[in-house]
Amino acid sequence: MNIHEYQAKELLRAYGIPVPPGEVAYSDRAAARVAEEIGGNRWVVKAQIHAGGRGKAGGVRIASSREELREIVDRMIGSRLITEQTGPEGQLVQRVLVERACRVDREWYLGMTIDRASQRIAVIASADGGVDIEEVAREHPERIHTEIVDPATGLLDFQCRKLAMAIGLQHRMAPFVRLLKRLYRLMCDKDALLVEINPLVETEDGDLLALDAKLSFDDNALFRQGEIAELRDFDEEDPKEVEAHGHGLSYIALDGQVGCIVNGAGLAMATMDAIVLHGARPANFLDVGGGASPEKVANAFRIVRADPNVRVILVNVFAGINRCDWIAEGVVRAARSQGVDVPIVVRLAGTNVEEGRRILAESGLDLIVAEDLDDGARKAVAALRAVEAGYEPVPEGVRA
Ligand code: ADP
Ligand code: MG
Repeated sequence: MNIHEYQAKELLRAYGIPVPPGEVAYSDRAAARVAEEIGGNRWVVKAQIHAGGRGKAGGVRIASSREELREIVDRMIGSRLITEQTGPEGQLVQRVLVERACRVDREWYLGMTIDRASQRIAVIASADGGVDIEEVAREHPERIHTEIVDPATGLLDFQCRKLAMAIGLQHRMAPFVRLLKRLYRLMCDKDALLVEINPLVETEDGDLLALDAKLSFDDNALFRQGEIAELRDFDEEDPKEVEAHGHGLSYIALDGQVGCIVNGAGLAMATMDAIVLHGARPANFLDVGGGASPEKVANAFRIVRADPNVRVILVNVFAGINRCDWIAEGVVRAARSQGVDVPIVVRLAGTNVEEGRRILAESGLDLIVAEDLDDGARKAVAALRAVEAGYEPVPEGVRA
């Protein structure tokens, strides 16, 4: 789960990590009030969306007067910001962060993340901070420095000092070590998966300041992170994913045309691979989980169908704890009540498979039955091609 920059900065502040004075605003009037509170005569207006790359895309603007500030905020709120990370449709800006414009001479990059290979937290630093760390990582990987933290000792001073020297921050050794240790504590306390300060800058009085902050948290730890869970902004998430989560389904929207309804994450991945192998692309990842009731399956159908790109649906269930008759019941119920108007390919195996097949056969619905994973993917792709070619209803050739 991600949070907004202004929320991340409040957390940093609570951990004693310096950030510029500033506050969130939902209108130009509120922004002017924030500017008055902060004082000074130059402010930065930053679009609060869950995506980076705002600087280059006009989502970070400097205002040198109150009037200019109100104008910028007025234009920014309600607009759609398109950055390298938002996709072509962009993201709606509903709020901005107004903060003091700071002097920026040099920009450093600082991050902490979980390194899967060592199963430990990795601290990453670079002297090439600013707008495009991904490019640095690609073109000059040697300019990115990493320290792996042993959980038994925590982040040690010598590791911080090593990083400081590697990125040319030895003249700010004490504040740098302090900042890293506080950041590490925040990461552990809050079950964060990623902490990113880009850029980190120097202030005139010898301290370091986090000018941008990104924090993501482990969804599986939210049950014990009540304060973090409350920061969740559903406006920033795919509504289908939010609804799926509410029904106990794991759903991730993708950009293909074959909607997938599968039980088990492993089988869901294999199903997506099989679809790609046969020449199409999955529209989503969806795991209905174990013990999927007919209601749950019907909900899964609704969510998959809500994606306008879906031209065919592939149901692939290998029932262990699940029951094929329930899955079949759910498929039939969904097809009837929701008037599903795309070809549906169903592959059932495992517990109560005969009963499941009987329910499908007796439903009178025009379903395409598949034998196994490969057959299911093949038939789904064939049905997709038929739909694309304008055949309606689904021609005999792709039916079982
Ligand atoms: P993004 O990473 O989405 O592009 P940032 O918050 O990193 O957004 O802002 C982009 C750039 O804008 C920064 O690299 C920095 O140079 C400048 N910037 C951001 N906040 C401030 C600030 N408070 N004062 C001065 N410059 C800023
Ligand atoms: Mg940034």
